[in-house]
Amino acid sequence: MIQLSKFPFKTLKSEPKVSDNRSTSLLLQAGFIRQEIAWVYNYLPFWLKVLRKIENIVREEINSLWAQEILMPALANKESWVKTNRWDSVDVLFKFEGSGGKEYGLNPTHEEVVTPLMQEFIQSYKDLNNMSVYQFQNKFRNEARAKSWILRGREFLMKDLYSFHKSEQDLEVYFEEVRKVYIRIFDRLWLGKDTLYAFASGWAFSKFSYEFQTILWIWEDNIYVCEKCGQAHNNEIVWENFECVGCKWDIYKVVKTSEVWNIFKLWTKFSDAFGLKYTDVDWKDKPVFMWCYGIWVSRVMWVIAEAMMDKYWLVWPESIAPATHYIIVIWDNLDKAIELAKKIEGEWWEVIIDDREKAGFGQKANDSDLIWIPYRIVISPKTLEFWGYELKERKSDETKIINF
Ligand SMILES: [Zn+2]
Repeated sequence: MIQLSKFPFKTLKSEPKVSDNRSTSLLLQAGFIRQEIAWVYNYLPFWLKVLRKIENIVREEINSLWAQEILMPALANKESWVKTNRWDSVDVLFKFEGSGGKEYGLNPTHEEVVTPLMQEFIQSYKDLNNMSVYQFQNKFRNEARAKSWILRGREFLMKDLYSFHKSEQDLEVYFEEVRKVYIRIFDRLWLGKDTLYAFASGWAFSKFSYEFQTILWIWEDNIYVCEKCGQAHNNEIVWENFECVGCKWDIYKVVKTSEVWNIFKLWTKFSDAFGLKYTDVDWKDKPVFMWCYGIWVSRVMWVIAEAMMDKYWLVWPESIAPATHYIIVIWDNLDKAIELAKKIEGEWWEVIIDDREKAGFGQKANDSDLIWIPYRIVISPKTLEFWGYELKERKSDETKIINF
């Protein structure tokens, strides 16, 4: 239960014109975020609630894979990055000097941490029943052109899952499981029908990597969708001559998207670098096969804000709205509001009580629209005459009196 009189909350009278997309203006106006430095924002309580709910949906689904959650450090160990030849070759790695001239980095990804970490736990084929670990961690990228935080943020929250396998065959089977789980995640976030599964460049790791790209028409990333079978392709692998990876057809349409998910087959690149091996049933030492699967959790949140908003407001899927009910208190009815809020929360809903002394009914009603809470309740001397409260669904204009 949130009482707005005890809460760092303030809305703005109009949308500030600050960026290349409108959702940021709406988020600033509705009191969700405040800027710290360019493209780096403070998350105020409502935005953090949305983030935590997305995180929990992702967590629930990933747990269904029997993956275990851990937390690795943001601070990077230079020696490990040197070992994989990435200290100098990854140009977005943040580097700095600590006391005594010792150099550190800030991890943009965690293969250099998770691979040596798992060495203690993986020794025999008996330890490799598709073992996987994941974390939610702030990542850092020293982007030269952080022109938009959704597209290229310097600091962002990521869910990264790493899986460890005996063979390529095990790895492919596990990958299909993860892909199904990821489709469920995007369905639960209302992004399913607008999210495409695309082939992308595998860079140093393999022929292809895979991405989930959400269609956003303001965006500048182009995805090439085969007109025959619907398979999507990232522009990195299309170049001049389009030929569908799925069906070899050469006619395509272009859609604009934002990348929300990527996966890399790491094969044995990192296990080789750190000597991560297991003893097989034939007593031979063999390298461990690895996958890395990311979800840009904070980017997903911005994408939902941008994709769902209508002409006037932010619109949240009910599963991630900051709360379900907004109670406007008129005059001295706070006790009544708290009593009702407890009853509503007993049914697993979440309530915001607007008991601000400085705000009148008009502003409170307007703010509940701005934050986009699905149900609005008014408790006033007038509704109390009827021994009840007024209930209005956000999507409709009708109000009705409900008895306590
Ligand atoms: Zn095709």
